[in-house]
Amino acid sequence: VTGSFTDKATYDWSSEEEEPDGRARPIQVLVVKDDHTFELDEVALSRILLAEEVHNREVVAISVAGAFRKGKSFLMDFMLRYMYSQASEEWLGEAEEPLIGFSWRGGSERETTGIQIWSEVFLVDKPDGRKVAVLLMDTQGTFDSQSTLRDSATVFALSTMISSMQVQNSGFAMSVLFQSMIFLVRDWSFPYEFGYGQEGGMKFLEKRLKISENQHEELQNVRKHIHSCFTNISCFLMPHPGLKVATNPNFDGRLKEIDREFINNLQILVPWLLSPKNLDVKEINGSNITCRGLLEYFKAYIKIYQG
Ligand code: GDP
Ligand code: MG
Repeated sequence: VTGSFTDKATYDWSSEEEEPDGRARPIQVLVVKDDHTFELDEVALSRILLAEEVHNREVVAISVAGAFRKGKSFLMDFMLRYMYSQASEEWLGEAEEPLIGFSWRGGSERETTGIQIWSEVFLVDKPDGRKVAVLLMDTQGTFDSQSTLRDSATVFALSTMISSMQVQNSGFAMSVLFQSMIFLVRDWSFPYEFGYGQEGGMKFLEKRLKISENQHEELQNVRKHIHSCFTNISCFLMPHPGLKVATNPNFDGRLKEIDREFINNLQILVPWLLSPKNLDVKEINGSNITCRGLLEYFKAYIKIYQG
C-alpha cells in the first residue's frame, strides 16, 4: 500500500515519477547508484533551499535515518500532519483518513539508498520570536552486503552532518557527530521492563551504554565516544502498531486500524520532536546555518565523499 490521492486542501501527495506540478512531495536529492557512486540532485535541492521565502532563514534540519521497511516513512507522514496543522490540538487527523506524504509500504521490493527531502520547507515561529525554516529528510539504506553497508554508512554520515536533529529509527546508530540524536526503538515489546516513551527509553539507553569490564575494548571506546560527542542524546520506546499496520496489504494508514497504545505514544513523540520550542537551528562550528548555507555544506560534504 502506498499513500493515495486525496483532495485535501493543504497538501497533496503525488508519486516522484510525475511531472512537478507545484504540489508538495518527497524529492530524492541524493542517490547511491549501482556502481556505488553518489549523485546529488543539486537542481532539486537548490529549488527547495533557495526558494525566496526560506533561503535566508535559519534552518532546522530534521532527519529520520535507518534501514528500509522499519516504518520511517509511516512516522514521517505523521510528522507532516503535525507540521501542516501547526499549533492545532487536532493534528493527528480523522479516524478514517488515509495516511499520505512520503510513500510507505509493505513488501520487499528494492528501494533507493539515499536521501529524500519533503519539497515544502515549513516556516515556524519559535516562542522566542524567531521564524525558522524546518526541513524534513528521510534517509535510508540497505545492509545486505559489505558494499551496501558502506554506502549506507556514508549516506547516514552525510545526513547526520547536515541535520540539527536526527532520529535513528530502530535504534540503529552509526555516526557520532551530531547536534541532537534520538534513538527511536520500534516495536518495543518489554514495557514491563522499560516503559514506553522517553523515560523508559532513557533508562534503556543508559543500560545499553553502560561500560562493563568484560566488554571488548573497541566497543568500550565507541560507547565513551558516544557519551562525549553528543550534545543531546535521548531514546524513545515505541509500541508495536498492531497487526493490521504490520501485515495487512490493504491498510491505508487510517488511525482507526492502529493500536491505541501506538497512537497514544505518537501523540507524545511527534510534538516532542517538532513543537516550536524544541526546534533547534542547525549549527556548524558554533554558528547558525541558513537554508542557503545548508546547501553549500551539502555540496561540500558530497565532494569529500566523492573523493
Ligand atoms: P520505511 O522503509 O522505513 O520507510 O518503512 P515504511 O514506512 O514504508 O513502512 C514499512 C511497513 O511497516 C509498512 O507496511 C507499515 O505499515 C509498517 N509499519 C509502520 N510502522 C510500523 C511499526 O512501528 N512497526 C511495525 N512492525 N510495522 C510498521
Ligand atoms: Mg520509506
